[in-house]
Amino acid sequence: MLKKFLPERYVKNVFQIKPSMLQEDGIKGVITDLDNTLVAWDVADATGEVINWISDLQKAEIQVTIISNNNEERVRIFSEPIKVPYEAAARKPSTKAFHRACERMNLQPHEVAVVGDQLLTDVLGGNRGGFHTILVTPIVQTDAKITRFNRAIERRILNHFYKKGLLEKGEDK
Ligand SMILES: [Mg+2]
Repeated sequence: MLKKFLPERYVKNVFQIKPSMLQEDGIKGVITDLDNTLVAWDVADATGEVINWISDLQKAEIQVTIISNNNEERVRIFSEPIKVPYEAAARKPSTKAFHRACERMNLQPHEVAVVGDQLLTDVLGGNRGGFHTILVTPIVQTDAKITRFNRAIERRILNHFYKKGLLEKGEDK
């Protein structure tokens, strides 16, 4: 049952996710979380580094969609200026928004990587939908949306994976 929470990769931040690495896995699309994945949850706009990361993916013909559980206004203000398609209030780990994004990108789930900082939403949703999953360490430890209870559950699941040798710590990379 815990396998549904196991990401394929665990990296320190999105900038370690290179187009070549994705292409080796046959990935043609990225569905990325916003809060604490691309920027800290309380940062409104994309940084230069994020803009460059997304444009490097797009240059390699990897499509990018932002899917967030946060509200429409927050996600729109972030995504529109950088012209990245998005979906807000996605209710991850529901897979509905992921599948809608797939249809828009004209890709199959096995051609798409779901990237995010939360096991209980991003990774669980991605795995349930048959996507590749990449966990990143959260940019900041605080989060407007996630409870301390959820983070405690995550910590226990991650420790289980470390102990079983199923996952290496993202912080070490
Ligand atoms: Mg997040």
